[in-house]
Amino acid sequence: MNISHIEHIAIAVKSLETAIPYYENVLGLKCYNIEEVADQKVKTAFFKVGQTKIELLEPTCEESTIAKFLENKGEGLHHVAFAVPDTGEALNELAEKEIRLIDKAPRAGAEQLMIGFAHPKATGGVLTEFCCPKKD
Ligand code: ZN
Repeated sequence: MNISHIEHIAIAVKSLETAIPYYENVLGLKCYNIEEVADQKVKTAFFKVGQTKIELLEPTCEESTIAKFLENKGEGLHHVAFAVPDTGEALNELAEKEIRLIDKAPRAGAEQLMIGFAHPKATGGVLTEFCCPKKD
């Protein structure tokens, strides 16, 4: 699989505006990017912690999977994302090992990444993303 590091840890929040001050004023991190991913119906805010990012996810509508997550579980850890050399290859390797996938093929995520998710039922309860930089 060749995971190089944890690319990001994603946390579901009801409101970026309410959540960001904790990260900035208490933890002393700097929000360097806010990006809407229309495809996933979320607005994201990013902080760097070494080479790992914290990604806050706010739903942009009721149909967002993040809105459903907040409804069921409340705010908190949403997923962990591992950096791999090639998301497609990682997904194929998981499929070969009969790990249930949410994404059979990579799709575009925030921050110029190609992403794919494995199902939390197959990963010990943690929604797990695999990602690599978008290649041109
Ligand atoms: Zn992610």
